[in-house]
Amino acid sequence: MDERHGPNVKDAGSTPARSTKFMKSFVKVTETVYEPLWVKPDFTTYTKDFVGIRSGFQYKCDHCEKCGHKFQLGESIGLASFKGIGNKTLCDPCAKEISI
Ligand SMILES: [Zn+2]
Repeated sequence: MDERHGPNVKDAGSTPARSTKFMKSFVKVTETVYEPLWVKPDFTTYTKDFVGIRSGFQYKCDHCEKCGHKFQLGESIGLASFKGIGNKTLCDPCAKEISI
Protein backbone atom coordinates (compact mmCIF):
# COMPACT_ATOMS: atom_id res chain seq x y z
CA MET A 1 0.00 0.00 0.00
CA ASP A 2 1.17 3.52 -0.76
CA GLU A 3 2.53 5.00 2.47
CA ARG A 4 0.86 8.36 1.74
CA HIS A 5 -2.57 6.76 2.10
CA GLY A 6 -3.96 6.26 5.55
CA PRO A 7 -5.71 3.08 6.65
CA ASN A 8 -9.17 4.61 5.92
CA VAL A 9 -8.57 5.09 2.19
CA LYS A 10 -10.52 2.47 0.25
CA ASP A 11 -9.83 1.24 -3.27
CA ALA A 12 -6.17 2.25 -3.01
CA GLY A 13 -5.07 -1.37 -3.40
CA SER A 14 -1.65 -1.82 -4.94
CA THR A 15 -2.34 0.65 -7.77
CA PRO A 16 0.56 3.03 -8.43
CA ALA A 17 -0.23 6.60 -7.31
CA ARG A 18 0.17 8.03 -10.83
CA SER A 19 -2.55 5.86 -12.38
CA THR A 20 -5.78 7.81 -12.96
CA LYS A 21 -7.87 4.68 -13.39
CA PHE A 22 -8.93 4.44 -9.76
CA MET A 23 -9.03 8.11 -8.83
CA LYS A 24 -12.27 9.59 -7.59
CA SER A 25 -13.33 13.19 -7.12
CA PHE A 26 -14.55 14.23 -3.69
CA VAL A 27 -16.52 17.18 -2.38
CA LYS A 28 -15.26 19.08 0.65
CA VAL A 29 -17.97 21.18 2.25
CA THR A 30 -16.83 24.09 4.37
CA GLU A 31 -18.72 26.29 6.80
CA THR A 32 -18.19 29.97 7.48
CA VAL A 33 -19.28 31.52 10.76
CA TYR A 34 -20.38 35.14 10.32
CA GLU A 35 -19.79 36.90 13.63
CA PRO A 36 -21.41 40.35 13.41
CA LEU A 37 -19.48 43.34 14.76
CA TRP A 38 -22.35 45.71 13.99
CA VAL A 39 -25.63 45.52 12.09
CA LYS A 40 -27.69 48.28 10.50
CA PRO A 41 -31.15 47.23 9.29
CA ASP A 42 -32.70 49.82 6.91
CA PHE A 43 -29.20 51.01 5.97
CA THR A 44 -30.19 52.33 2.56
CA THR A 45 -32.54 51.82 -0.39
CA TYR A 46 -31.48 49.65 -3.32
CA THR A 47 -31.71 52.18 -6.19
CA LYS A 48 -30.32 52.54 -9.71
CA ASP A 49 -27.77 55.00 -8.30
CA PHE A 50 -26.71 52.43 -5.71
CA VAL A 51 -26.37 49.77 -8.42
CA GLY A 52 -24.29 52.21 -10.51
CA ILE A 53 -21.98 53.03 -7.63
CA ARG A 54 -21.46 49.36 -6.81
CA SER A 55 -20.94 48.36 -10.47
CA GLY A 56 -17.27 49.28 -10.16
CA PHE A 57 -16.74 46.99 -7.19
CA GLN A 58 -16.21 43.25 -7.16
CA TYR A 59 -18.82 42.87 -4.40
CA LYS A 60 -21.96 44.27 -6.02
CA CYS A 61 -24.11 44.40 -2.86
CA ASP A 62 -26.96 43.02 -4.97
CA HIS A 63 -28.03 40.20 -2.66
CA CYS A 64 -28.45 39.22 0.96
CA GLU A 65 -25.30 37.52 2.24
CA LYS A 66 -27.32 35.38 4.66
CA CYS A 67 -30.27 34.05 2.62
CA GLY A 68 -29.17 34.86 -0.94
CA HIS A 69 -32.22 37.02 -1.72
CA LYS A 70 -31.62 39.19 -4.82
CA PHE A 71 -32.51 42.81 -4.07
CA GLN A 72 -35.19 44.59 -6.10
CA LEU A 73 -35.09 48.32 -6.93
CA GLY A 74 -36.77 50.34 -4.19
CA GLU A 75 -36.12 47.72 -1.53
CA SER A 76 -34.73 48.73 1.86
CA ILE A 77 -31.52 46.83 2.61
CA GLY A 78 -29.32 46.37 5.64
CA LEU A 79 -25.58 46.36 6.13
CA ALA A 80 -23.43 44.51 8.63
CA SER A 81 -19.76 44.06 9.34
CA PHE A 82 -18.51 40.56 10.16
CA LYS A 83 -15.33 39.66 11.99
CA GLY A 84 -12.64 38.59 9.52
CA ILE A 85 -15.03 38.97 6.56
CA GLY A 86 -15.88 42.66 6.29
CA ASN A 87 -19.03 44.53 5.32
CA LYS A 88 -21.85 42.59 3.67
CA THR A 89 -25.36 43.54 2.61
CA LEU A 90 -28.38 41.83 4.12
CA CYS A 91 -32.08 41.90 3.39
CA ASP A 92 -33.95 43.71 6.15
CA PRO A 93 -35.54 40.55 7.61
CA CYS A 94 -32.08 38.92 7.97
CA ALA A 95 -30.52 42.13 9.32
CA LYS A 96 -33.27 42.37 11.92
CA GLU A 97 -32.94 38.66 12.72
CA ILE A 98 -29.28 39.03 13.73
CA SER A 99 -29.88 42.29 15.59
CA ILE A 100 -30.39 41.77 19.27
ZN1 LIG B 1 -31.75 37.66 3.82
